[in-house]
Amino acid sequence: MHELSLAVEIVRLLESHATELQRITRLTLDIGTLSCVDEQALRTALASAMAGTLAAGADIEIHTVEAQARCQDCGQTFQPPDRIEPCPHCGSFKKTWLKGEDFRLRSVEGLSASP
Ligand SMILES: [Zn+2]
Repeated sequence: MHELSLAVEIVRLLESHATELQRITRLTLDIGTLSCVDEQALRTALASAMAGTLAAGADIEIHTVEAQARCQDCGQTFQPPDRIEPCPHCGSFKKTWLKGEDFRLRSVEGLSASP
């Protein structure tokens, strides 16, 4: 239940906005293709984790971030379909991940709390 603990973590982050926002109407998430997060499972987990919070019923926008790596031998960047794919230019398995491992909350929109 990886997605459920992520959902709980996201709701905790959202609640830290509770002083500025009265209600959260939309949140945008970036999910790297290597972060092993199942989008549908996350949506389901979020819907239940957000129930009864200031984010209840908010729209959830999910962006998928394609994995990108740089080869440590030839320096080329490429988009491997999985973690073990070698460099398509020189066949090296030594690579540094540039993108795609992360999972993050990109933005939050909502209604401001009345002053
Ligand atoms: Zn290479």
